[in-house]
Amino acid sequence: MRVTHSEFIISNTDVAKCPNEPLPEYAFIGRSNVGKSSLINTLCSRKNLAKTSGRPGKTQLINHFKINKQWFLVDLPGYGYAKTSKTTKKAFQQLITRYFDKRQQLISAFVLIDIRHNPQPVDLEFMEWLGTNFIPFAIIFTKADKLKPLAIERNVNAYLEKMKEEMWEETPPHFITSSLHKSGVEDVLGYIDTLNKDFNAAR
Ligand code: GDP
Repeated sequence: MRVTHSEFIISNTDVAKCPNEPLPEYAFIGRSNVGKSSLINTLCSRKNLAKTSGRPGKTQLINHFKINKQWFLVDLPGYGYAKTSKTTKKAFQQLITRYFDKRQQLISAFVLIDIRHNPQPVDLEFMEWLGTNFIPFAIIFTKADKLKPLAIERNVNAYLEKMKEEMWEETPPHFITSSLHKSGVEDVLGYIDTLNKDFNAAR
């Protein structure tokens, strides 16, 4: 799938005000600075559709973008920013819990992970939470241009192994991307396209 049309629809702090249209929806989430805005812009072949934020952890908004007039891409707030206050953390948790609870049209979440790091508790815990709440998700490893192929393989395997050790019988689909090199994005879009087709066939 190529993204030929992308438009910003609305930013919300209230899940009830998110768009009502019965379109399939995909939510992008990850730690602050993981490269989420860059990836969204790359997926949509746009420079500034998602705003790369200068103040990580500050904006706690659910941002809806309509893609190809067929599906919603949702930019969720980043988590795990060291300087976040307890109040902000709580607000984040409430927002996210309500989002995943209410959005019946959500087909899959995409959890973004910086490929350079060892498995981090905050990411593992978040994915565990998704799993226990039966929310389908895939992993997108970001910033692959920062590592050589062998290191990429080693880090991805380390992640998947850790997940298997901790609780997962089966690991989720995963994608390896670089916004700098614009690599891996076709795979993510192809995956969304397949899920959209399944969604439309089931209607
Ligand atoms: P967000 O906070 O998750 O939305 O992250 P941003 O998209 O704002 O990116 C955070 C930082 O990582 C910025 O300095 C980006 O230039 C950088 N970055 C994002 N994606 C990539 C990538 O694929 N490769 C490299 N080398 N840097 C990236």
